[in-house]
Amino acid sequence: MLDPFGAAAATDGRYGTPNCVARYAGDKVIINGQKSAWISGSLTAEVCVLCTHVEQNGQAEPGIAIIVDLDCPGVSRGKPLDKMGMRSLNQGEIFFDNVEVPVSHVIAGPETYKAFVLKALIYGNTGVAGTSVGVARAAYEEALAYVHERKAGGVPLIQHQLIRYRLFHMFRKVEMAKATLMRAITYNGTAPQPALVAAMLAKVTCSQLAFEVASEGMQMLGGNGTAKEYMMEKLMRDARSLMIADGCNEYLALQGGTQLMNPDLF
Ligand SMILES: Cc1cc2nc3c(=O)[nH]c(=O)nc-3n(C[C@H](O)[C@H](O)[C@H](O)COP(=O)(O)OP(=O)(O)OC[C@H]3O[C@@H](n4cnc5c(N)ncnc54)[C@H](O)[C@@H]3O)c2cc1C
Repeated sequence: MLDPFGAAAATDGRYGTPNCVARYAGDKVIINGQKSAWISGSLTAEVCVLCTHVEQNGQAEPGIAIIVDLDCPGVSRGKPLDKMGMRSLNQGEIFFDNVEVPVSHVIAGPETYKAFVLKALIYGNTGVAGTSVGVARAAYEEALAYVHERKAGGVPLIQHQLIRYRLFHMFRKVEMAKATLMRAITYNGTAPQPALVAAMLAKVTCSQLAFEVASEGMQMLGGNGTAKEYMMEKLMRDARSLMIADGCNEYLALQGGTQLMNPDLF
């Protein structure tokens, strides 16, 4: 993305009622409305790529993607959401009040908008899959270190066969997530047409596996797994959020199933 802080301004209002609309006025685009309330990086980003409806023949229709300097007059930001997981990534609203942007900042117009959004979704889902792999791996490594230190029954936990069995399955899931992510990246980086279904598959698989690994990691640390003093508690909260970020996993599965039925239905 063009935004150095990764702001993805894609949230919209109710079906059929766009809450942000752009209109062309000479060599400028004027933007009015808001994007709410889950724009990642919205409080810290200097620039965003705004995907918005555009006025055409008196109607607001999808759409354009336009680079907006978030320090320009008419832009204001809401408060950060106080979330359970992924707390280091801020989210909030962005408001546009007669914001004027040069036409040269439009990077996708109505003809290319769908292809642009498709690429943004692929990028987003792949990013969440990558974050999930990181969370899964960190949870495994935290658990591995802990079972060498903590003693139960007079010996370090790692000496208990059941612990080694459980660690193996955590490790197996980390490797599965990593392999799925790499396959999606390789496919979408080399195929003539990138496939959204590959990115969705990676996002759903990796975030589900990250949740399973973090949950098992928390269990392995016992009470300490639930204490904020230990990293595992944070990893568990992050893993849970990743099953929702960039599309709830079950919704992505519905979309993915539809794509399997007919790839042109996006
Ligand atoms: C950490 C984090 C970062 C985020 N960053 C961004 C961002 O940068 N930009 C952005 O735009 N958004 C962002 N989001 C928002 C995120 O994309 C949405 O929360 C997510 O897509 C789910 O949408 P929703 O919250 O509207 O839930 P809803 O769509 O209301 O879903 C609620 C429930 O209904 C189910 N459901 C929904 N539709 C259907 C259906 N058709 N059939 C059956 N069941 C259905 C869902 O599976 C879910 O269980 C972020 C969220 C998180 C947690």
